[in-house]
Amino acid sequence: MKKTIALLPGDGIGREVIEVTVDVLKTIEEHYHHQFQFQYGLIGGDAIDQTGNPLPKETIETCRQADAVLLGAVGGPKWESNPVFLRPERGLLAIRKELDLFANLRPIKAFDSLLDSSPLKPEYVRGVDFVIVRELTGGLYFGKPSERTTQDGEEGAVDTLFYKRSEIKRILVSAFELAMTRKKQVTSVDKANVLESSRLWREVAEEVAKEYPEVTLKHMLVDNAAMQLISSPNQFDVIVTENLFGDILSDEASMITGSLGMLPSASLSSSGLHLYEPVHGSAPDIEGKNVANPIAAILSAAMMLRHSFGLEEEAGAIENAVKHVLGSGKRTADLAKGGPYVSTKLMTEEIKAALADDH
Ligand code: ATP
Ligand code: MG
Repeated sequence: MKKTIALLPGDGIGREVIEVTVDVLKTIEEHYHHQFQFQYGLIGGDAIDQTGNPLPKETIETCRQADAVLLGAVGGPKWESNPVFLRPERGLLAIRKELDLFANLRPIKAFDSLLDSSPLKPEYVRGVDFVIVRELTGGLYFGKPSERTTQDGEEGAVDTLFYKRSEIKRILVSAFELAMTRKKQVTSVDKANVLESSRLWREVAEEVAKEYPEVTLKHMLVDNAAMQLISSPNQFDVIVTENLFGDILSDEASMITGSLGMLPSASLSSSGLHLYEPVHGSAPDIEGKNVANPIAAILSAAMMLRHSFGLEEEAGAIENAVKHVLGSGKRTADLAKGGPYVSTKLMTEEIKAALADDH
């Protein structure tokens, strides 16, 4: 199979984890006889430095001509005091809008060999396997107005939470479709006791549920969901929620299984051009030290092979290689709890070796 992959390494450890993920993809190419063409693009702080724009037009063009996009991370202290439109994170918001990446999928799956990396008791974590589906192109992050304003003679600020029915419907449909391939349970998270947008969300969720009689739909208030994620994470299959709630809950959920360095994500569009990235950020504190955990990025590439290219066997092979290496006790620093650890590059070599063995 011949595919073009747009690579946007970005800043900080984003570059390091994308570099080694490309190595893993080359191993897949070799063993399964595919041809991947890699096209690099600038995004984030690096793009600002080189072009004055966190998401240059050329990058959008590179993405549009590719079959999938693989992104590292953006941001860092260097650009923190920039004006808002020259912040690296703008690049991320812009690419979501440009490619209409409305559904962000974050699988949260416990690895048996990492149960002791979680701050929760192993018996709560064992078997955890759910996906958070976060709406990514609407809500408070994009609502207008979003500005400083004056009320009663005093300075204040306003942000706007707005969703169209169609925006709610398409994210709910994504969640139900995903649930059909899993345990057929959807938990829709909102704040319907307070927010009008949440009441509309619930209405639309009920309508969509009628189209999926095999799927059980449950509504949960976001404050309760935050608690349930910790008290009984095993109850969930697919969680679907709006942009801000999803942002907060998915970072919370990431801790259930241990390290941010383990979690992949996919951002899906209706055009069929999807973007994959590790959940973690650019981690400036560990940049350039060859200690970043590359597994989140490598598992993101596995999601890409599965969702964008239909390469189920190859995706499974990567996931098994990761499981195997963790099972053999290899840990990067974030998982090692002060014990011995391997570098980013060594961890990747282990995963590549496991892939080669498996084949
Ligand atoms: P962003 O705003 O981009 O989400 P953030 O401020 O949430 O970034 P991250 O960059 O995700 O922060 O990092 C948070 C912490 O987790 C950092 O201290 C970092 O060292 C650690 N961390 C993140 N990713 C990894 C990784 N792949 N391997 C090891 N440690 C990581
Ligand atoms: Mg973060």
